[in-house]
Amino acid sequence: MGIEQTLVLIKPDGLKKSLTGNILTRLSETRLEIAGARIVHVNRELAEEHYALLKDQPFFEELIKYIMGEFHERRKVMALVYHGEAAIQKVRTICGATNPEEADPRSIRGAYGRITTSGIYENAIHASANPEEAEREVRLWFSPEELVYHIYAVKEAEAKREKKLFWA
Ligand code: UDP
Ligand code: MG
Repeated sequence: MGIEQTLVLIKPDGLKKSLTGNILTRLSETRLEIAGARIVHVNRELAEEHYALLKDQPFFEELIKYIMGEFHERRKVMALVYHGEAAIQKVRTICGATNPEEADPRSIRGAYGRITTSGIYENAIHASANPEEAEREVRLWFSPEELVYHIYAVKEAEAKREKKLFWA
C-alpha cells in the first residue's frame, strides 16, 4: 500500500450545517497529514468532471446540482488532500458507507448524512474510493503548487502568460 494521497471534499451540506470543524476533527483520528486545502467554487465543468464515472446514473443531474451547492446556498466546497500510509482506506473507513442510512452511526456519514425527499444521499463528505480515483481527483482539484508533498510526477516548465487577479 505505502504512502498515498486521497481527495476529501466537505460538501455543501457539510458547510451549511457548520460541520467543517467536526469533520476535520474526525479525520485527524487517522493521524494522516493534510498536504493541501482550499475553498473551491464548483462550476458545472468541475462538477461533471469530478463525477464523470457516474454520468449514466439516473441521479447524475441532481448530484451535480448538489455538489455545485444549488440546494444549500453555499456555492463552494472545502477540498483537502490527506497524505500518508494507506490514506485512501483510512479516510473511507471514517467516512462510512455511501448511503447514510446504512453507514455506521459512528462514521461521519452515519452521524451527519441524510437522504433527501428526492432520494439524493446528502452525506456531507466525499473521499476518493481507490488509488485510480485518488490520483485522478487529486490532479483535478489541486495544482502541484498547492500541495506540500508530491507523490504523483511533476514537471517544471515556464508558465504561459496568463491573466491572474492581483490586489488592486
Ligand atoms: N449518490 C446518491 N445516490 C446513490 C449513489 C450515490 O445520491 O444511489 C451520491 C452520494 O452523494 C455519493 C455520490 O453520489 O456520495 C457519489 O457516489 P459514489 O457511488 O461514488 O459514492 P461515494 O464514493 O461518494 O461513497
Ligand atoms: Mg465515489
